Amino acid sequence: MNNFSVDLTNCDKEPIHIPGKVQSHGFLVAVKKANHTISYISENAETFLGESAKNFLNKSVSILNSFFTQNEIQFDIEDLLRLGVIRKSFHAISPHPTAIGVKPYYLIISESVDNWLLEFEPVTLQYDLQSAIGRSASAMLQGKTVAALLKGAAIEVKKLIDYDRVMVYKFQEEGHGEVVAEELESKLEPFFGLHYPASDIPKQARELYKLNLTRLIADVNTEDAKIITFEEDKPLDLTNGVLRAVSPIHIQYLKNMGVHSSFSISLICKGELWGLIACHNYSAKFIDYKAREGSKLIGEILSSALEYRQGEEDSEIIEKFKDTATILTEHLSRDKYLIDALAGHKKSLFDITLGTGVAIIFENKLKTLGNVPADEDIWELAEWLKSINEESIYYTHRLPEIFHPAKKYKNLGSGILACNLSKDLNEMIIWFKPEQITTVQWAGNPEKPTEILPDGLEGLSPRKSFEKWSQVVNNTSEKWLAEEIASVLRIREVIITDVNKKANEIRLLNEKLQAAYDELDTFGYTISHDLRTPLTSVKTYTELLLKNKSIDEGGRKMLERILTGANKMNFLIKEILNLARVGRSEIDFEVVDMESLIKEITHEVWNAFKADNAELILGQLTDLKGDKTFIAQAFTNLISNAVKYSSKATKPKIEVSSYIDGDEIIYTITDNGIGIDNRYYDRVFELFKRMDNVKEIDGTGVGLAIVKRVVEKHNGRVWFDSKLNEGSTFYVAFKK
Ligand code: ADP
Repeated sequence: MNNFSVDLTNCDKEPIHIPGKVQSHGFLVAVKKANHTISYISENAETFLGESAKNFLNKSVSILNSFFTQNEIQFDIEDLLRLGVIRKSFHAISPHPTAIGVKPYYLIISESVDNWLLEFEPVTLQYDLQSAIGRSASAMLQGKTVAALLKGAAIEVKKLIDYDRVMVYKFQEEGHGEVVAEELESKLEPFFGLHYPASDIPKQARELYKLNLTRLIADVNTEDAKIITFEEDKPLDLTNGVLRAVSPIHIQYLKNMGVHSSFSISLICKGELWGLIACHNYSAKFIDYKAREGSKLIGEILSSALEYRQGEEDSEIIEKFKDTATILTEHLSRDKYLIDALAGHKKSLFDITLGTGVAIIFENKLKTLGNVPADEDIWELAEWLKSINEESIYYTHRLPEIFHPAKKYKNLGSGILACNLSKDLNEMIIWFKPEQITTVQWAGNPEKPTEILPDGLEGLSPRKSFEKWSQVVNNTSEKWLAEEIASVLRIREVIITDVNKKANEIRLLNEKLQAAYDELDTFGYTISHDLRTPLTSVKTYTELLLKNKSIDEGGRKMLERILTGANKMNFLIKEILNLARVGRSEIDFEVVDMESLIKEITHEVWNAFKADNAELILGQLTDLKGDKTFIAQAFTNLISNAVKYSSKATKPKIEVSSYIDGDEIIYTITDNGIGIDNRYYDRVFELFKRMDNVKEIDGTGVGLAIVKRVVEKHNGRVWFDSKLNEGSTFYVAFKK
């Protein structure tokens, strides 16, 4: 018959629906549908009927009539079968009350391919459970949350069947299970919160739970009764049977836990096995068919309540996510800085998913909330994400397996959900979920030793199962829900719209600024130009007056001051004109021979400042492509400053040189002069800005503004290093 031998390696292939045996608290007779002859019978029928089971094989089922009575009258089993066939269901007929002698039995009829299964089991319950079931159902439905509902179910089922432990066991996506509610005798060790690997309840067992909503294992220590037949090659399918014998692995599993009886009720949500109400008793305990049916009803009510409540809780989560998104949208419109808007208030990006931490990388800054890996790990992860992710969103619940460096922070980020805000700038938000195993509390005693058992079956115990589960879920977090992904996509859209809006505002501001600059240039140019003629008159007439001998010494001094003032003004006007010219002119690119240009400039500057005592060192000077006039102007200003501001040094030393760095040529102008106070670093290039330490040295504060404009017009950069009273180095970088 069924020669399949079971060990731990093949239990998910074990044909548990054809065990070839029944549990021996009842007995089974299978009758051929076609002619009502007895095709199979369990050997223990003899215990109940007092006659060898073999004698019934191949006889008409009516042979059994004489053994049974109903209301003390003999009844016809064939009539009952015919009635079921006419009604197309044995539901209304099962369980059919009958008696063997004075002992009451239930006859439960079901279908098995070509046969009817007739199973007889003792009646033990003497009162009607109907009202107790009603009370239990309404007490259970008092629970307003899914958790309360499940706990209520455990309490009520325990009242109905009076088992030592009643657990609600939930299946997760991969078939793993978790004890999500429990009611138990106080002396027992709780299993609440425990996880089991999928292999603990193999796939084919889960399938049977969907077909058969209750399952009783009355006593793990009694011998099962063999089913005998003359049809050796056709094992009897007991999928629908109530007495179906249990897999030896499962029996061993129960024995390892000290369980003598087990009862389970299937919970089906949306057509799928959601979980089980799993009940354990630590001594043998049979449950009457009616009480099992009552429990089944509780399970069915719970299943539909679960569907509803779960739906309710899911929509609560969705609402919470949506509310947060609305609040963040408001923050974004009000706050100046994106990171403040998203992470600086009570409601933040943290509330957009169920993750336990979040990191935002924006404008090269990192901001984190909640439990996240170290900053350097997040930067490294961001680099990796940039390299692998073409899409706007990326998520995984097993990061350490895909990205090995994540192993060291798996307790914080085994799962990540990342969305990019700008791929080019590597701006993104990453939510984290910890490794599942670290979120699970083991409710039992971790020191409890596991029993050593024969047959290599010692692996079967809740503790070992938990360990096995831990290995399976090692490096994985809880999965990201569709709602969380939708929520992240929603907020990403909001952020990107906001960033674009702000970028547009900045662009408009820039355009306005550019227009203002242009206007200022035109204004500066016109004013300076128009001032030159009257100023020349002032100068010329003053000079004429000075030649007049009749003017006394006092008048002469005044005229000389006028002349100095007019000269200064003339110089300033020239400078402003130069600045305006840079703004207004197009750049005329040509190769500039820098060595000769700098030589020319230094020659002029040395003459102008009479700087004979200043030492000049010229390093290598690479040619560049640019507008020779403007370049000359910029370098004249820089070299003049170097000479001017080092003139007070005992031994002034000016060095001009250049070097190549990547795609840039960088020129340096170094002096050992008075230096610049670092506090004003950003202001040195502003128009008319002069430092406090140069009051005694002539200048207009226009020179560096011209340098900056010239360099920027060439798409270059200018900056400096300086130390007060030690000297300064100005750097000018041009693209090669
Ligand atoms: P100015 O005509 O005053 O030299 P610039 O625009 O050329 O105007 O320079 C602005 C200010 O920057 C100067 O007034 C001075 O305070 C500071 N500065 C520029 N170059 C040097 C330098 N080589 N050493 C010290 N200070 C400098």
